Amino acid sequence: MFNIMWFRSDLRVFDNPALVAAMQSGPVIGVYCLAPGQWDKHDVAPRKRALIRDQLYALEQQLAELNVPLVILPCQDFSDLPEKLIGFAEQQKANQIFCNLEYELNEQNCLKAVAVCGGKSSIDVFAYHDQCMIAPGEVLTQAGQPFKVFSAFKRSYCAYFPRLVRPLHNRPPAQQLLAISSDMQALSILKALPDNSQGWPAGEDEAHHRLNSFLELQVRQYHERRDFPALDATSGLSAYMAIGAITTRQCVQAALSLNDGLLAEGHPGLVSWINELIWRDFYLHLLALTPRLCKYQPFLKETDALPWRGDGSLFKTWCDGKTGFPLVDAAMRQMNETGWMHNRLRMVCAMFLTKDLFVDWRLGERYFMQQLIDGDFASNNGGWQWSASTGVDAAPYFRIFNPSLQSKRFDPNGDFIRTYVKEFQGIPDKLIHSPDAKLAQELGYIQPIVNHSAAVADVKRWFQELKAEKV
Ligand code: FAD
Repeated sequence: MFNIMWFRSDLRVFDNPALVAAMQSGPVIGVYCLAPGQWDKHDVAPRKRALIRDQLYALEQQLAELNVPLVILPCQDFSDLPEKLIGFAEQQKANQIFCNLEYELNEQNCLKAVAVCGGKSSIDVFAYHDQCMIAPGEVLTQAGQPFKVFSAFKRSYCAYFPRLVRPLHNRPPAQQLLAISSDMQALSILKALPDNSQGWPAGEDEAHHRLNSFLELQVRQYHERRDFPALDATSGLSAYMAIGAITTRQCVQAALSLNDGLLAEGHPGLVSWINELIWRDFYLHLLALTPRLCKYQPFLKETDALPWRGDGSLFKTWCDGKTGFPLVDAAMRQMNETGWMHNRLRMVCAMFLTKDLFVDWRLGERYFMQQLIDGDFASNNGGWQWSASTGVDAAPYFRIFNPSLQSKRFDPNGDFIRTYVKEFQGIPDKLIHSPDAKLAQELGYIQPIVNHSAAVADVKRWFQELKAEKV
């Protein structure tokens, strides 16, 4: 009898708990269910789809070293996936399916449907915690609730870490060669997707190369340089984490080995980087324990009564990077062109959309997913709800970024802006953050689409009225 290893967002052979368990239990066939209809429903960006495609080819090679064939199973979406997967298992005379857990609601329901469908054919399904360093639900408040404040979550998390973090898994040993061969034919429908080979080459090796090079050359300045988008100062690993080519456990363990095993003390660069990886787990824990976050609902329910604007021309100018605020426009154009945006700029752009334009944060959240190569529901939703002041431990509604001041502070010479706002090639540094109307017109640049001070006053009033109503 065979086992099926059902790959999901865990496209790797190292540190893969389900793969280890499957191979310990018997001969394994790897399966990936390709469901482009579900990608459409979940707004998966073309660049992320392409990275998954490329990673599947790389994974096939890695699995070949273990004598595990990889079969791409074409499906429409999660509605036909369970039947297709169980049908394949039956056809191969497999009686066990192994996979890693995903915490988004549709993914959880899909797994349940696979288990129900499998039960009818006497096929058992085993699922493992994988995406977080400590499984969701293990770090709770004294009242047994998810933490709503990051600093308190982190304190508790660090205290539990030595006991609860799962040790890293090595790559499993090779199995006997099977008679079945890999079948990657179904991937041919993804041929026309963008070419990531320059900016984002696929492969577990590439992810580990980035990790090692970041730890060797950059992490010690991370706390001082991480907020400056013109610098190459962050790891660039999020895209690889989003598809599971590398795990946060691998990253944190590598960082700990350089920091005397300390999570929250020691070298400030390493501590600051580990802190960001814990933010990732914070949002994943929250998502796993708060399913309504997957239904476009704000964490703070009362904020749904705010008079958010809809999908009009303001939203469109923001998407296109044509707001007349140079840092916002440069960042949006960076994302539209490359599929990636710097963390500080994600906050600036999200806050600009929700506070200066007062457009519904859910529109921005979806647009980011449609563009980002590292699109990840939990981190994206967490980042958006933070910026919109609708989420846990969010930015207070009255602390609103001024896009021009953010620009002066984090891109002082305008190097980042010049890279993406081509209109500004010859403009002097000090004028680049908020060029006056005459200069903007000469350069063919847009006038600001909103008055920041007036917009801020309106937003504060709306949030205050909301509070007044609540009392
Ligand atoms: P580094 O600075 O090297 O950080 C290392 C890792 O820590 C990242 O790869 C990521 O896994 C994690 N991390 C860093 N910052 C955060 C954060 N603020 N929240 C959660 N995890 C973090 N991240 C995504 O992976 N996918 C998304 O779709 C996404 N959408 C976002 C939307 C908004 C509005 C905001 C404010 C943030 C979003 N982030 C998202 C978080 C963050 O911007 C990216 O993880 C980071 O920019 C990735 O670059 P890096 O790998 O070089 O990060």
